[in-house]
Amino acid sequence: MKNDKNYTKHIIVFIISSFVLTLMMNALIMPLINKPRVKETNYSFFLDKLDEGCVTKVKVEDTEVRFEVEIDGKKQSYSTGRMDDPGLVDRLRKNGKIVFTENFEKPNVLLEFLVGWVLPIVLLIVIWNVLMRGMSKRMGGNAMSFGKSNAKIYVKAQTGKTFADVAGQDEAKEALVEIVDFLHNPGKYAEIGASLPKGALLVGPPGTGKTLLAQAVAGEANVPFFSISGSEFVEMFVGMGAAKVRDLFKQAAEKAPCIVFIDEVDTIGKKRDGNFSGNDEREQTLNQLLTEMDGFDGTKGVVILAATNRPESLDPALLRPGRFDRRIPAELPDLAGREAILKVHAKKIKTEENIDYNAIARATAGASGAELANIINESALRAVRNGRKLVNQSDLEESVEVVIAGYQRKNAVISQKEKEIIAYHEIGHALVAAMQKDSAPVHKITIIPRTSGALGYTMQVDEGEKFLLTKEEALARIATLTGGRSAEELIFNSCTSGASNDIEQATKLARAMVTRYGMSGSFDMIALETVTNQYLGGDTSLACSPETAAKIDDEVNNIVKKSHQNAIRILSENIDKLHELAAYLLEKETITGEEFMDILHKEPAAAL
Ligand code: ADP
Ligand code: MG
Ligand code: ZN
Repeated sequence: MKNDKNYTKHIIVFIISSFVLTLMMNALIMPLINKPRVKETNYSFFLDKLDEGCVTKVKVEDTEVRFEVEIDGKKQSYSTGRMDDPGLVDRLRKNGKIVFTENFEKPNVLLEFLVGWVLPIVLLIVIWNVLMRGMSKRMGGNAMSFGKSNAKIYVKAQTGKTFADVAGQDEAKEALVEIVDFLHNPGKYAEIGASLPKGALLVGPPGTGKTLLAQAVAGEANVPFFSISGSEFVEMFVGMGAAKVRDLFKQAAEKAPCIVFIDEVDTIGKKRDGNFSGNDEREQTLNQLLTEMDGFDGTKGVVILAATNRPESLDPALLRPGRFDRRIPAELPDLAGREAILKVHAKKIKTEENIDYNAIARATAGASGAELANIINESALRAVRNGRKLVNQSDLEESVEVVIAGYQRKNAVISQKEKEIIAYHEIGHALVAAMQKDSAPVHKITIIPRTSGALGYTMQVDEGEKFLLTKEEALARIATLTGGRSAEELIFNSCTSGASNDIEQATKLARAMVTRYGMSGSFDMIALETVTNQYLGGDTSLACSPETAAKIDDEVNNIVKKSHQNAIRILSENIDKLHELAAYLLEKETITGEEFMDILHKEPAAAL
């Protein structure tokens, strides 16, 4: 509850400043008002003035004598030390004018009261007002009207995004175009009796353009666009989330037709689970959201968009028809989609002519829109770094590698011996890949280390887009992954830690073959694992008995073992080529797929 803390902070600031102010008033200003207008002087001066007869008042105290002198109508008070002067009283009595023990000018009681009490209070009220105004500004409204929503109204000019900015994602765009059309001519839909879905939920992995799509809708729709992120609901005062939802929908109803966009809706829309976790607040917010979505009239033209990358964690009540009944997938882009996204973003930079975007798209299978946008930007940065005015193909190709594997570590010192091992390792991968027919062609091999920790890598690029993975391809891929280690074993008769990433990937794939793809010999079509987090990393959880889990491990081990043996066999059959290619790579550090294939096919004998 950030604002709760804010409030307390303000009160503490207020109390401290009141305290300081009062102290200052009393210490600095009061003495000024009650400024002693009494001059210190000596006793003989007093006696002189008495003799001159211009003393008008005298007050004798225990230790001092105060007196007032009047010269030409001007009064001045003095004080002096009291002397043992027994004749004083008589002398004073003789001078009839002198008034005894009169109180000298009283301090100005009224002024003292004003300065000591009224002024601080007035100042404190002023400070309080200033503080509250500052606070309410930060809260985006009047501090006293708790419960105002933070939803910003977007109008066309502000997001500046249109559907033209979103490449690929054609299904998502189609669904959204319909919504935009409904907002423009609701009559067309009302005539036939159709009512539009109240809510649409954009789901997909991070960086696939969900937020971008919503902004594009705002740009196209030309209607008010309220946008709020789920976390903004949650951060408010206790009980405020619900109030904010109510408020948001009230505003939306006034502005209809309009669009309400809730980004990262999973923060409020999480499943309400049985265990009492004490997160009542979130539950109230969710309940309010459910009620509001039921409450408003579908024909009015309030459309609710929401985005999330964790749809499986959303409360089922939120997903039932009448609420977010339409699900718009924003999937990772396919080959055509990637090419389109690259082109959209390339419009923002200056490039040489005839850039082959298709080649870049093929090399970036599995990349999200955000990553592709990043690749384009990296390439422009690289062009600047190299002092060029236009981005060329090699900039783009290098940026793909930067985004995949990090920057080149040019000054990493690697001993010759280790370089040799790395070269054999990479050629091992490439050779095993090239010698199997179910494997993607080798695109590039490099032994320049990268900041990601990779000491070298072999890039394989498929010719076209693949949607299915056959068992043969999976096995070929595992064999390719074990190829690096196999080469080390074959040539150096030992192994290194360099294969750790290969091992991880091979295991993951072999495991998926057994538990999810039904590609193993001993299990039938049984789902032994379920994916729990489809869009965020794809974590899985086992759904089987411990005995079966042990069997799965055996099965995975067998698959990898067989593939490993297969790789060793391929390499030992082509050991001459392995030596030749490794020497070439060691010399060049980076070789292309064509160079690789040229050497491989140089002598007919090597092609088997
Ligand atoms: P998320 O799905 O995580 O909300 P965003 O919409 O924030 O992703 O996308 C992040 C960035 O990635 C966008 O600003 C845009 O530059 C780029 N991007 C993602 N998908 C696309 C796409 N389909 N077309 C063009 N750019 C895209
Ligand atoms: Mg987003
Ligand atoms: Zn490797």
